[in-house]
Amino acid sequence: MQQPLAELVEALNGFDPALVVSYPSALELLAREQDAGRLHIRPLVVETSGETESDRAHLAASLGAEIHNVYAASEFSPIAADCPHGWLHVNSDWAILEPVEEDYRPTPPGRPSHTVLLTNLANRVQPLIRYDLGDSVVARPGPCDCGNPLPAVRVAGRHDDVLYLDDAGGRAVAVLPLAITAPVDDAPGVARCQLVQTGPSVLRVRLQTGPGAAADAVWQDVQAKLAGFLAGQGLANVELVRAAEAPEQRGRSGKFHQVLALKRPAG
Ligand SMILES: [Zn+2]
Repeated sequence: MQQPLAELVEALNGFDPALVVSYPSALELLAREQDAGRLHIRPLVVETSGETESDRAHLAASLGAEIHNVYAASEFSPIAADCPHGWLHVNSDWAILEPVEEDYRPTPPGRPSHTVLLTNLANRVQPLIRYDLGDSVVARPGPCDCGNPLPAVRVAGRHDDVLYLDDAGGRAVAVLPLAITAPVDDAPGVARCQLVQTGPSVLRVRLQTGPGAAADAVWQDVQAKLAGFLAGQGLANVELVRAAEAPEQRGRSGKFHQVLALKRPAG
């Protein structure tokens, strides 16, 4: 995912996978490449999470595959997998999933939760107990019509924007949000980081540093990591601006977006 798109397409063409598992934003890019005739893969099954019905129809048509929805997190994968009735059945012998309100009281079935707590029963090396995933989840009231007795949920998708940044020649290069934020997430002293695109080749970096971290040193480290990542994508021209303001929530949901793309006309 962190590779430049052209390299990824070439590698996938060489491998021609039977199963493709990725984020919806990454699959949308691949479907576009397939539509444009640059990608020629023939997967049987595509697994993703959090995509909408229209995304799903486009993916199925472009990639010629069955599209399955899973609910996954790096703390446990897969937490749940879809059924023909559109619910995600939780692997509850391995994971406990608790939809909760803001004050961590249980959310009744049928109502969207504020967040959800995950307990991993399979990982005996690093215990994860009631880990706050930050997703809004609706638990199905009563048994599912598909006959699967495992508890069923629906998840409001996490949807960060795909960035389109202009290179030095004015060509738009697609950058996936999870790819560009990965080097920053690993940087020491970073509590939260938000990237806001303010021009075709300008990213404003909002940083919140952890306790005891030296803000200037953290910024220099983050700037170097982002510049290194961008150079690898052919985007060494992109300007990184240090923002005075802290990362902000947006929208009615109050959900935190790590990457906010510039709104531009489609095409
Ligand atoms: Zn079901």
